[in-house]
Amino acid sequence: MTHQMVPNESDILERQKEKFRTLMERVMRDNAFYRAKYEPLGFSVRRPPRLDELPALPFTLKSELVDDQQRHPPFGRDLTFPLSRYTRIHQTSGTTGRPLRWLDTAESWQWWLDCWREIYRAAGVHPDDRIFVAFSFGPFIGFWTAFEAGQRLGAMVMPGGGLSSRQRLETLLENEATVLVCTPTYALRLAEVARESGIDLAGSTIRITIHAGEPGASVPNVKSRIEAVWGARCVDHAGATEVGAWGYSCGERDHMHINEAEFIAEVIDPETQALVEPDAEGVQRGELVLTNLGRVGSPVIRYRTGDLVELTRRPCPCGRTTAVLRGGVLGRIDHMFIIRGINVFPSALENLIRAFPDIEEFEVSVEHRRAMAELVIRIEVNGQRPADVAAALEQHVHERLNLRPVVRVVDRGSLPRYELKARRFKFSQEQR
Ligand SMILES: [Zn+2]
Repeated sequence: MTHQMVPNESDILERQKEKFRTLMERVMRDNAFYRAKYEPLGFSVRRPPRLDELPALPFTLKSELVDDQQRHPPFGRDLTFPLSRYTRIHQTSGTTGRPLRWLDTAESWQWWLDCWREIYRAAGVHPDDRIFVAFSFGPFIGFWTAFEAGQRLGAMVMPGGGLSSRQRLETLLENEATVLVCTPTYALRLAEVARESGIDLAGSTIRITIHAGEPGASVPNVKSRIEAVWGARCVDHAGATEVGAWGYSCGERDHMHINEAEFIAEVIDPETQALVEPDAEGVQRGELVLTNLGRVGSPVIRYRTGDLVELTRRPCPCGRTTAVLRGGVLGRIDHMFIIRGINVFPSALENLIRAFPDIEEFEVSVEHRRAMAELVIRIEVNGQRPADVAAALEQHVHERLNLRPVVRVVDRGSLPRYELKARRFKFSQEQR
C-alpha cells in the first residue's frame, strides 16, 4: 500500500537537488549565520553551493549555534527572514548545557507537520485513531508537532499536559485512545503506575505506541517490554529541536528510515571527520550528519547530530528505498564511556538490564574503590527474589561486556522516575 507513495532513489536525488538549490539561494541572500560560514569559501548569492559541493562545506556544531545565540541574543543569526515572519518559538531541554532557542515560520512549522505525517503513515495510524500524547507541552518542542500533525491527519488528539500519571492513564482509558505518543521511559512508567493501580493495560484499546526522545524504542528489550505491557506495536521515531523529525520506523523490527525527501544524511568518522565509506556489507558506521531541506527560515546544514548509527542503503523488506539505520540510533557518541579499557554505550547496557522483566527501574554509575573504577548498577526489583535477579544480571553483563559490575538492590520507589529524557546514567565528564 505504501509502496506507490514512496519515491525511488533517483526521484529523491532530484528532489534533494532542487530543494537544496532553493534553500541555498535564500540562505546566501539573507541568512547571516551561514553567509558568514560560506562566503570565505567563495560562495555568494550569485554562486550558492550546489548539492555536489555539500561535502566541501564546513559542519555545523551545536556549540556554534549556542555561541551564536549568546553573541547575538536572544535568537542568534540562523534566521533567513525578518523576525515578524516567525510564529513559533521553542527551546531545547538544555540537559547538556545552555538551552538553544529555535524559531519557526508558519511554512517551516507546516514542514514539521508533513514530516510527522510520514511517521504516522509508516506506523499505520489512521484518521479514525484517537491519539493520546502523554507530554507536558512546555517550551520543549517534543510532541507539539505530533499533536498538530495528528489533527491534520484527521485523527482525534488528546493532550496529556497538566495531568498526573494516574490521571493520564484514566484519560486515555476512558476516552478509548488507540495510539500513545510519549518517551519510551514514560511508556514503562505508565505501565508501572497501571500495575500499582490494578489496571490491565494489555486489554486496553491502545494498539500502537510511538516514541522519541531516547533511543529506547529501538533497544530490542525495551521495545519488547513496552509491547508486552501495552499489548501494542511499539514504533520509534527520531528528531531534534534544531533538526526536525528526521527518522521513523517502518515496521521491520529494528529498522529506522531517514526521510530523505526532506533530509540529506551523511556518515562521518567522529574523530577524523572524514566521510565513512560503506563496508563489505554496505554499512556506514559513524556519526550521523544531517541537512534539513524544508526549514528555510532556520536551517541546519551538515549538522553533526552526535548520534552513532549504522546506515545501509540495502533495500528494506518494507519496500522503501530510503536509507535505513540498523537498530535506530545506537547511542550518543558523547555518552559512550570507557571503563577498564572497555567502551560501553548506555543503550547497549540498558538492553542487557531490560532483559530482566523484574527490574522495574535502574541507575548506573562509575565509582572508584581503591583506585579501581567499578561499574555500579542499582536496581529496583519487582518480585520475591531480588538477590537472585541481581546475581543473574551481574553474570549477564559480565558475559556480554567482559566487565563485572557491582549490582545493588535498592528499595522500591527509591530511584527517580522520568517523564521526558531519563537520566539513568550518572557519570562525570571525565568518565566519558
Ligand atoms: Zn523499511
